[in-house]
Amino acid sequence: MAHTDDRLRPEVRAAADRVAAAPAGRAPEPGERLLWQEARAAARRAYAPYSGFKVGAALIGASGRTHLGVNVENQSYPAGMCAERVALGAAVTAGERPSAVAVATADGRDAVPCGLCLQAFSEFGDVTIVCRHGGEVRVFALRELLTTPFAVSPDAAEGRAR
Ligand code: ZN
Repeated sequence: MAHTDDRLRPEVRAAADRVAAAPAGRAPEPGERLLWQEARAAARRAYAPYSGFKVGAALIGASGRTHLGVNVENQSYPAGMCAERVALGAAVTAGERPSAVAVATADGRDAVPCGLCLQAFSEFGDVTIVCRHGGEVRVFALRELLTTPFAVSPDAAEGRAR
């Protein structure tokens, strides 16, 4: 698949091949870059006293309004919440369905949404994901990052039937 050096140990070669095979996304449109900048500005308000990894998310739907989220950590680690799902909750509470979500760290380093967040967004169809990857802001279709979301049935979710 990839052109990795055959002298590498098998596990190192496998990891390098996974990186080489990973989707690269596309360059952002001006509005998508602006959404990422809103996510980065929000990240400064994250509550991350344990990891110091401050993340913000900015989500838009059909209304064009922006819904923000930040990660909220907890002493009981699993009780913490990712910024993306906090933004999703804010949007759904406002009666919105997501069409695009940007995620950014406060310091601007690479950060792709975790699998749990991708699964959460998959409920609403092939949402556009804007994030920094490979040292630059890139845009992905959710299905590029999560090729086979969990589904009870293909028609169970409102977004999946479309
Ligand atoms: Zn997450």
